[in-house]
Amino acid sequence: MLIDKFGRKINYLRISVTDRCDFRCIYCMDEKMRFLARDQILTLEEIEQIARTFVHLGVEKIRITGGEPLVRRNILWLFEKLSQLNGLKELVLTTNGSQLKTMAQDLRNSGVKRLNISLDTLKEDRFQKITRTGHLSDVLSGIQQAKKVGFKKIKINSVIMKNRNADEIIDLVNFAIAEDLDITFIEEMPLGLMAEHDRSEVFYSSDEVLKDLKQHFDLIELLETTGGPAKYYQIIGKSNKIGFISPHSHNFCDTCNRVRLTAEGRLLLCLGQEHSVDLRKTIRTCPEQLEQTIRKSMDLKPQGHDFNIQEQPMIFRYMNHTGG
Ligand code: SAM
Ligand code: SF4
Repeated sequence: MLIDKFGRKINYLRISVTDRCDFRCIYCMDEKMRFLARDQILTLEEIEQIARTFVHLGVEKIRITGGEPLVRRNILWLFEKLSQLNGLKELVLTTNGSQLKTMAQDLRNSGVKRLNISLDTLKEDRFQKITRTGHLSDVLSGIQQAKKVGFKKIKINSVIMKNRNADEIIDLVNFAIAEDLDITFIEEMPLGLMAEHDRSEVFYSSDEVLKDLKQHFDLIELLETTGGPAKYYQIIGKSNKIGFISPHSHNFCDTCNRVRLTAEGRLLLCLGQEHSVDLRKTIRTCPEQLEQTIRKSMDLKPQGHDFNIQEQPMIFRYMNHTGG
């Protein structure tokens, strides 16, 4: 079992399998983003070995994220391997949805249990502005296909920004209700420098989102927690969950149960801090020390983060490296 020095049990690993993406979302990447060289990225076999070690140490849930995981070649191989790990209870995927139309069935066959799909707007022109290269219709048909092949409890992730999509909060919830989806609203986190916008200017807090929703829906707060950062609500009479991830307005570090593996093999102990351990070096030079290195890394997990949108970002990693 992995326990950090503050007594938190670490049972959730998020893995970024690539820093590459077919989109260039304005809150995640800069327009002319440079990607890592191929030899800097962990191979799928290395990822599998690290994940297996974590599961052996008590990790029960793995989320595959990126960049866009579904643009990584042979990614289904990894899902198949991970889904067979003894002790792993949940294998889940975060995706931008662009490839789901063709890949949803294979993902289901290879053991992915749940999907989070990013969707910030229901307007095609806005979708193109926010993602720079994406097409809304691909994502919408991907969602339909995922439902058709039997994925249940699909969750939409929406990053809400003032003057970009904050006027669509009600529409996004109505879409979730109509399509039988859950939805989580996320405050933009200051990861990496963005030329496209001033983060404090576009910041739209979860409290503001909630206030907007309360004017249209009767909401009740759910007491249940998944051990993660999200707070959940439900509309009275509906089964869809509405979540909020609020790294600025609500600090959720006390119950943090997760660590992240970046595409280049850095183990990040906190999304909002730079503490990390180079597992690529360990696995390439002395793989027999992998388990011990992971155990020791728990001592580096900080108590928490302290994002400040009024200042330049303290974290120079971009979200596509970190994996959301
Ligand atoms: N490409 C996939 C996708 O978009 O779902 C997976 C990777 S993406 C980095 C994971 C999640 O992080 C997405 O839901 C995205 O909206 C969110 N995200 C990206 N940049 C963010 C930021 N600066 N602040 C908050 N969330 C962010
Ligand atoms: Fe790609 Fe996801 Fe980042 Fe958008 S949020 S650029 S889809 S990795």
